Amino acid sequence: MSKKLLKNAYVLISADDDVEKFDILIDGDEIEDLLAPGDSTEMDLGDVDEYDLTGKLIVPGFINTHSHSVMSYFRGIADDLSLNDWLFKEMLPREDFLESEMAYYGALVSMLEMISNGITTFVDMYMFTDEIAKASYDLGIRAYISRGLSFDTDEGWNRRIKENIETYEKYNGLDNRIYIGFGPHAPYTVPMDKLKEVAKIAKKYNTHIQIHLLESANERKQYNLLDVENTGLFDLPTIAAHCVHVDEKDIEVLSRNEVNVAYNPISNMKLGNGIAPIVDMLDKNINITFGTDGCASNNSLNFFNEMKFGGILQKYKYGPDRFSVEQILRMSWENGGFALETNIGRLEPEFKADLVILDMDSFEFLPNDLSRLKSHIVYSANPKNVFATMVAGNFLYYDGKFLTLKEEKEQIYEKFHKFYQRIEDKYNNSDYSDIHNDDRDI
Ligand SMILES: [Zn+2]
Repeated sequence: MSKKLLKNAYVLISADDDVEKFDILIDGDEIEDLLAPGDSTEMDLGDVDEYDLTGKLIVPGFINTHSHSVMSYFRGIADDLSLNDWLFKEMLPREDFLESEMAYYGALVSMLEMISNGITTFVDMYMFTDEIAKASYDLGIRAYISRGLSFDTDEGWNRRIKENIETYEKYNGLDNRIYIGFGPHAPYTVPMDKLKEVAKIAKKYNTHIQIHLLESANERKQYNLLDVENTGLFDLPTIAAHCVHVDEKDIEVLSRNEVNVAYNPISNMKLGNGIAPIVDMLDKNINITFGTDGCASNNSLNFFNEMKFGGILQKYKYGPDRFSVEQILRMSWENGGFALETNIGRLEPEFKADLVILDMDSFEFLPNDLSRLKSHIVYSANPKNVFATMVAGNFLYYDGKFLTLKEEKEQIYEKFHKFYQRIEDKYNNSDYSDIHNDDRDI
């Protein structure tokens, strides 16, 4: 693969830098160098593909630390239900009818949505991990995937663990881009002794953990974080989604175990669960990242919405001076890289070439004063400002087109709709008593 040179654009290296002009030289999947404007013309860079990006702003790719990609089929149903009714009456019965080919296309559609709005890495928990890993591999996005593990019977539990391990063995480390962790769903669906078992297995495979923690008020009565700590689960690199209903003692537990938190503001508000105390957690040095959660509870995978709403909710909770634009951008970029122990989230040499190119020729970026661009990214921009998305040195999306699809986009949408219709037909011909799928993945 020849090198790439991204020329003539403004660049924001990280949340805490200022916007400056650099040319970015990319070799393979990494950033090789940042060159001052004009320097590249005097250097012999060898075989280089040059991209003139005048009028564009290059920023690190967004890192989405909590999603359920297959749930694209469930967008727009059950908008006005409680978590309980939403889950048991609408989601689980439909999930019961998912099949592996459907899962591949459901995940793929979510990934297309993500890359078209600048997400370069996602962290996913669901059934059908093989299909999610395959779709991620095919498309070129960076993915950290776990099998959702919930306990019903020993047989069901063992089957899920087996699937998780099989996907790990097949896909972990593939292309230096796909990583498989373990995904115990939550302490209210997995008993403590089973969490202990997951911790032991995950240590053997030396991989990461994804888990939902204290998403709803109800969960406070169901388990104690000290018990979860005692299972040894937090000895592993862990991303805990939600953490809305954490008190001071819980925050202490998360902090001393260096648990990373995925803040999912839109899902939390839409399901009426509340506002996570992010500022309190930041004050205790907890690493906070952003997640979109799945399409079923969000209903989009629009990272710009997470930044804006996540930010203004914290301002509402703590006051307008407690949550800066830089804080929000750190949570969107390098905090994700820190949680995943990967060189992503900053545009520096030896970091992965995962980046987003924003088109500043739009109302959202006016006035395009350099000192205002960070604010524009967080509070004004939207996915239509995304000109291109690159992962591991490859453009996946450029000027409105997906470049790495194995099939035509229209064909993918057609299959997606066919599968969607099959799920709905089966759902409409069933009653709730038909549910036999006891997985808890969302
Ligand atoms: Zn979730």
